[in-house]
Amino acid sequence: MDYFERYEDLNVHKTMLEDIPRNSAYQKAIFDNKDSFNGKIVLDVGAGTGILSVFCAQAGAAKVYAVEASNIYKLAQEIIKENNVDHIVEVVHSKVEDLKLDGNEKVDIIISEWMGHYLLHEGMLDSVIYARDNFLRREGLLFPENVTLFSSPCSIPSLNESWANVNGVSMKSFGKQLKEAAMKEPLLIQINPDDVLSEPESVLWLNLHDVTLEDLESINFRHVTSASKDGRYQGICLWFTCTFPYYSTEPVILSTGPDDPKTHWLQTVISLPVDVDVEKGTPLAYDLVLKRSNTSLRKYTIEMTMLDPEEVEHPIYCGCHMTKC
Ligand code: SAH
Repeated sequence: MDYFERYEDLNVHKTMLEDIPRNSAYQKAIFDNKDSFNGKIVLDVGAGTGILSVFCAQAGAAKVYAVEASNIYKLAQEIIKENNVDHIVEVVHSKVEDLKLDGNEKVDIIISEWMGHYLLHEGMLDSVIYARDNFLRREGLLFPENVTLFSSPCSIPSLNESWANVNGVSMKSFGKQLKEAAMKEPLLIQINPDDVLSEPESVLWLNLHDVTLEDLESINFRHVTSASKDGRYQGICLWFTCTFPYYSTEPVILSTGPDDPKTHWLQTVISLPVDVDVEKGTPLAYDLVLKRSNTSLRKYTIEMTMLDPEEVEHPIYCGCHMTKC
């Protein structure tokens, strides 16, 4: 199935529309900035069902181009009408890369919900970069404006301990196979905050005003830290935050971490081949490389290498090498 066909599935949109922290962050970021939207021209990159375009119209935008490449655009048109904003929002069935605006018109604001698992999965940020470079006027605004990817060592009991006893039946063999599968592909789960074993560290920070495609090719990160509690080090988890522009109020931050209300992104978890018992203060170190796949721009390989914290130059062993999520 091709990328845009997947977005014809109502269930994919249902999952996003049921993600209240997601919807509310965008809504608050837009409504808190009504002064910035009032009378302005907005481009919604990947409008889907049109929810963000409706928010922008409700915030006083003069014109919203709701650009959507998949056939869900028809439903977006109905939803725009249903909300009585069809005099403001124009749904355009197109890839943003093929969009033509009359007389090379520029927009004041670009809004988009482009983030995938571990932030970069799906590679949709490329399209936002294209839209920025081709349609955003100088000094225009981007919602969100910057994003951060975080990583932290963690325990993964759902892959390990919890299979020792299922209603009195030992299911360790089941757990073992599950773990083997998790070595090939990252898991998407919500990590309990108690299972996070160190202070998170930012892997990547992107300002959407100046990020380039080159910045997204390969991300190399080394985390040298220490355990903040006793526990079983069984993997690392990745999540992201998005910050929206703000002028008169506090910034709105959409945060998808273990401490935050659950979102449809969950966390992306990379399992280690062995468990390591750690005590509070035990040094921990690993390298993480996210590299764009040669076969699909929408995927990354994620490679984690555990390091000897005393001697970070010498890898103990290479952990997981995964191609998809
Ligand atoms: N904005 C909606 C949908 C977000 S999902 C919401 O917040 O609920 C991302 C949407 O972007 C999908 O519907 C997908 O089809 C669309 N999309 C992705 N890349 C695109 C591109 N290059 N041009 C136009 N639409 C795109």
